[in-house]
Amino acid sequence: MVEIRGISASPGIIWGKAFVYIEDALTIPKYDIGPAWIVNELKRFQDAIEKAESEVRALLTEARAKGFSQSTEILNSHLVMLRDPQFFAEVEERMRVELKNIDWVAYQAFREYSDRLAAMEDQVFRERATDIRDVGHRVLGHLVHRRKVSLTEISGRVILVGRDLMPSETVALNPAIVRGLAMEEGGRTSHTAILARSFEIPAVLGLKDLTKLVQTGDEILIDGNQGVVVINPDAATRRLYEKSRRIWVRREENLHRFASLPAETRDGKLISVFGNIEVPDEVEALKFFGAEGIGLYRSEFLFIQPGRLPSEDVQVSAYAQVLEAMEGRDVTIRTLDLGGDKMIPDLSDTSEKNPLLGWRAIRFCLSERQIFKTQLRALYRASIHGKLKIMFPLITTIEEYYAALDICGEVRNELRGRQIPFDENVSVGCMIEIPAAAAAADILAKDAGFFSIGTNDLIQYTLGVDRGNQRVAYLYDSFHPAVLRLIRNTIACAHAEGIRVCMCGEMAGDPFATLFLLGLGLDEFSMHGSSIPEVKKIIRSVSFAEAQDFAGELMRMTSGREIYGFIKRHMEKRFDLAVYSERS
Ligand code: PEP
Ligand code: MG
Repeated sequence: MVEIRGISASPGIIWGKAFVYIEDALTIPKYDIGPAWIVNELKRFQDAIEKAESEVRALLTEARAKGFSQSTEILNSHLVMLRDPQFFAEVEERMRVELKNIDWVAYQAFREYSDRLAAMEDQVFRERATDIRDVGHRVLGHLVHRRKVSLTEISGRVILVGRDLMPSETVALNPAIVRGLAMEEGGRTSHTAILARSFEIPAVLGLKDLTKLVQTGDEILIDGNQGVVVINPDAATRRLYEKSRRIWVRREENLHRFASLPAETRDGKLISVFGNIEVPDEVEALKFFGAEGIGLYRSEFLFIQPGRLPSEDVQVSAYAQVLEAMEGRDVTIRTLDLGGDKMIPDLSDTSEKNPLLGWRAIRFCLSERQIFKTQLRALYRASIHGKLKIMFPLITTIEEYYAALDICGEVRNELRGRQIPFDENVSVGCMIEIPAAAAAADILAKDAGFFSIGTNDLIQYTLGVDRGNQRVAYLYDSFHPAVLRLIRNTIACAHAEGIRVCMCGEMAGDPFATLFLLGLGLDEFSMHGSSIPEVKKIIRSVSFAEAQDFAGELMRMTSGREIYGFIKRHMEKRFDLAVYSERS
């Protein structure tokens, strides 16, 4: 029996026979060509692209028929990549200069492109590298006449084990056959993790050397709650996990009862519980979990397709889709938050020494006025489809907020002049994610329509800890007294000016933080869908007065560790949180 730990990517506990799926490497020939061969080589490249396109189109039809919206989106992005004229032109130019066969030149071009993305700090771009490899592998497979092995060839019920799944491979995944995933690569936001969650199959990713330890046919047990995989578990271990599974299933079923209930405290204080999304298709899942609105739509995910910006019309239809799906409930769309840890090769300044302290978010938008104006125009145009709120990320100074508001005003005037309808009552607010903004929240609150606290950045900037750096992760502490004080100040200043405060950072979905935030008077919590029922349950189990006392108690403590220990003891006594709320 061997136990390994990875990243818990999709919840649930399951066991079964392993199917090890490792794609064979392609052998790419390399030889010199004369100038006269170029036309022929280009024709071969074009043919391979067309074959790849028709394969992707067939997968797309299959994905649509099965209603796999995530897969549809991924496959559509593959079609865009396959039709990218700039990439084709680059490969052609390279072949003319190097005079090497097209297989070799295309292989190098795909590899360099995906390596560039894979080296980026932002996980979103690193994951794009997988798409490039996937598309490249498909095209190269046709150039060297290799048929791609398909996951549809698996039968029975298996736990799929591999290095990583290519995004298009996941379309062939049948959740009735593949009951769980264990992969060497990937993180919580990788395609594989997103898809596993949407298929509701347990997944553990980031399992180093897994494929060296498991063979097809081995018994394998995966615990997606704790991020643990056990190969060939003994009888005692199986019994232990069978028990955990029963507890977990019962707990989820019990919790789901809270999804459709209001988040109302025992003494009648009503709190709004919203969801966060990155792409419009996530709305349905959020509704299932009981989201009463969208507190954060990270609009930058529309902009991460390499090579081109989304047009105004493309943006209008994405925003309108979300607004319509939410049927008049609040939808807060954040304007473009690029830069920092979300670089886009063609737009961002990749030479910055300190990108997290650099040209990102609202700073980027105020200097790239046209991109910003186009987005604002799209947002106002879409506003007639529901209840839109707009917020600006990373506001540091009041001047930035005024400058962004001025551009909103210009956009509204232009739309009026062109007689394009929009909602005149769109509320505009600031994200509070820089300590300066939280400390001077009294100033911003005078003119802001609302606040939304982005704790992911607020904690990183307050404590000086890069939120993505594992080596200093032990310092990244939501319960550091400085963080708690900044949150308290932000809420108090907002309420003094009569505006509402949302929190859309990860802390809002942390059940350990719920009582404290409630006690400070947070009006709206916005989080990943699956956390909603549990947060609602906690809010419904207490009175506001109890939460206020609890928050007051925490504010008197002097260290994050002391605070966390106190919360843990309290929550374990009061709620059933021991099953998977152990913090990493
Ligand atoms: C945050 O910083 O808390 C936030 C919600 O924004 P993001 O995680 O997208 O930076
Ligand atoms: Mg942020």
